[in-house]
Amino acid sequence: MRIVVLGAGFGGLELAASLSEQFGPDLDLTLVDGGDAFVFGFSKLDVMFGKHDQTAVVHPYAALSLPGVRFVNATVQSIDPTAKRVETTAGPLQADVLVVALGAELDPAATPGLLEGGHEFYTVAGAFALRDVLAGFRGGNVVVGVTSTPFKCPPAPSETALLVHDFLRERDVLASSSVTLVMPLPKPVPPSPDASAALLAAFEKRGIRWCPNRRVASLDPARRVAVLDDGGELPYDLFLGVPVHRAPDVVIDSGLAVDGWIPVDPRTLETAFADVYAVGDVTSAGTPKAGVFAEGQAAIVAHRIAARLRGETATQAYDGRGICYVEVGRGAVAKVDVTFTPGQAPVGGLEGPSPELAADKEEFGRSRIARWFGAGG
Ligand SMILES: Cc1cc2nc3c(=O)[nH]c(=O)nc-3n(C[C@H](O)[C@H](O)[C@H](O)COP(=O)(O)OP(=O)(O)OC[C@H]3O[C@@H](n4cnc5c(N)ncnc54)[C@H](O)[C@@H]3O)c2cc1C
Repeated sequence: MRIVVLGAGFGGLELAASLSEQFGPDLDLTLVDGGDAFVFGFSKLDVMFGKHDQTAVVHPYAALSLPGVRFVNATVQSIDPTAKRVETTAGPLQADVLVVALGAELDPAATPGLLEGGHEFYTVAGAFALRDVLAGFRGGNVVVGVTSTPFKCPPAPSETALLVHDFLRERDVLASSSVTLVMPLPKPVPPSPDASAALLAAFEKRGIRWCPNRRVASLDPARRVAVLDDGGELPYDLFLGVPVHRAPDVVIDSGLAVDGWIPVDPRTLETAFADVYAVGDVTSAGTPKAGVFAEGQAAIVAHRIAARLRGETATQAYDGRGICYVEVGRGAVAKVDVTFTPGQAPVGGLEGPSPELAADKEEFGRSRIARWFGAGG
């Protein structure tokens, strides 16, 4: 069975590693990615705020060593979900089972003024470049602003506001600065009231201004103001933005997407096309766009493919559960455990925040890299 996995992010790597672990060299899996390395989303913040050097968080695909997995460094140019045929810059690929894990693309140019007058911290390049920008910042009004929904890792803008506050305090420029957070959500982490309460308390304690249910529509670089969707304006000296997200063009052109994202059966991750699955940020599976959900969905697709390879019936379905770590500043981390069940309100709990959970988070990353990259991890 020829298995072709498009995208080597959280979802694609988990799928490849899980099947490789079960079938070893008997597996025929091709993993395609246009990038040359994997970087965790949270590592972007680590580099931006100077916690880690960028060489420590970039994991080159050249090191990937998983039995039965062939990595192809190529851009996917077209997908025919009926024929399960894919065109790439390295030539065509024919699949018996196709998995689309191409994530969400970021489009900073879609927000007028963002490229000219601000910065974004969601792409690897944008976050890494901000390390030098922050190092040269001497204080002033900082606005952390989300430009549209949906956006990856809903806690990330809150984490950024808190880490900016730490950064200004450590540089002794807090007295001449302000931090404002603009988010198009009613609460920092809507599915977890406890996590939201902890973050709102942290904002209040630090004097971070919280602007819920608003998004940044544009920046006016000449006047250095962020313009909100209700016409309100916020002056800024440093703007840190979350850019517009969309499915990659190749997905839109394939006919797999409906209303911008790929609809899937939330329990099986099957698309409307036979033997074509989709996982992670590229879907409208009903879970937030976060790596832990992409990983959990990939594990279920691996289970289903494995059952088929063994001639068995798949017994497991996706449970919508994800655990994520939230930086709350001053070295402390909280652990949020949320479950999204179709047709029900999401439920979520909170552990911490505590400095001990920062070590748990480090281990979360380390164990993934060891598993996903095999002997090369
Ligand atoms: C600042 C920040 C912090 C975050 N923190 C967390 C966190 O703490 N916990 C968490 O769970 N999530 C976090 N996330 C979110 C997480 O990074 C994503 O949700 C996750 O990576 C999604 O996994 P995925 O497999 O769906 O897509 P991705 O990991 O984005 O992978 C998609 C892959 O497809 C490739 N690709 C796209 N188009 C093409 C093409 N045409 N041809 C070839 N390859 C292509 C890309 O190169 C990419 O490698 C964070 C994100 C950000 C930005």
